[in-house]
Amino acid sequence: KLGNETAKAELGRSAWKLLHTIMSRFPDTPSQDEQTALKSYIHLFVRLYPCGECAEHFRQIVEKYPPQVSSRSSAAVWACHVHNEVNKSLGKEVFDCSKIGDFYDCGCAEDAKDEMS
Ligand code: FAD
Repeated sequence: KLGNETAKAELGRSAWKLLHTIMSRFPDTPSQDEQTALKSYIHLFVRLYPCGECAEHFRQIVEKYPPQVSSRSSAAVWACHVHNEVNKSLGKEVFDCSKIGDFYDCGCAEDAKDEMS
């Protein structure tokens, strides 16, 4: 049982890291196609998340707080908010979403000019 908890936590950390880093690189002014892509990504992330109880719980959170994909900052704050909802349910500290801006670094500063297009 202990091993399962460790694996579940590790999966969670990796998944959150990827999700928040994707948000941090999402365009400031996304096209309709980019907005649709992010919305689809989030829905598939919810649907396919490998921990079944987590996915079901998260599905309810996302149903209550629909994905915000109109800009980088709205997407980043949305992801921070839903992560905080999970944090609360697990009795973890709530993250200050006003600090989300520089927290996630994709390590790809060399193509910062290009942004995602
Ligand atoms: P994590 O919550 O994994 O966070 C990693 C790091 O992200 C933190 O150290 C902090 O630096 C930063 N961070 C924290 N909060 C935020 C935020 N709001 N916004 C941005 N960055 C933040 N585990 C369960 O036991 N039961 C569940 O039902 C469950 N559901 C989950 C659903 C999803 C979709 C995901 C991705 C994970 C879920 N998990 C669940 C795993 C859980 O959320 C944690 O990932 C895991 O418990 C490890 O926690 P942690 O304390 O290392 O920090």
